[in-house]
Amino acid sequence: MVNAVYPGTFDPITNGHIDLIERATKMFKHVTVAVAHNTSKNPLFDMQERVAMAADVLKDFESVSVVGFDNLLVEFTKTHNASVILRGLRAVSDFEYEFQLAGMNRNLAPDIETIFLTTAEQYAYLSSSLVKEVARLGGDITKFVPEQVIAEIKLKLG
Ligand code: ADP
Repeated sequence: MVNAVYPGTFDPITNGHIDLIERATKMFKHVTVAVAHNTSKNPLFDMQERVAMAADVLKDFESVSVVGFDNLLVEFTKTHNASVILRGLRAVSDFEYEFQLAGMNRNLAPDIETIFLTTAEQYAYLSSSLVKEVARLGGDITKFVPEQVIAEIKLKLG
């Protein structure tokens, strides 16, 4: 079994991400959840907050660690002794961007493979941005994110 890196913004981590990580632990020796600095997405939580939330909700997975990064993903992947970049696919609309990203990363580092897991059906509609929007408008997000994350969102949104 090889090691995988699962990169994303995780602003915040959702039950869709967690389901994918749990399934990945059965396929990979170690999964490093790589939380991107990613200021272009204008995240609600800063990188340290996103790392702390993900680390907290994933603490029971022995083969999972959470790390922040702001360098080139393929370099980060190599320094974490991983040969796989893991991404999730929810809908056809994810495909074009993911295909481009995987192609670019293969070009930069031909030894690293991007592997996709498809979403669990019950999370197909779930994204961090929709969770934040529903929370902002006072909707119930208990089915979408863990308890600790709900508390953090409430604190942030006031
Ligand atoms: P990014 O900003 O890099 O897209 P995200 O945190 O939004 O980061 O997502 C990280 C990865 O998790 C992406 O590959 C995304 O497609 C996948 N993902 C997000 N939500 C889900 C979900 N509900 N089910 C499966 N995969 C998901």
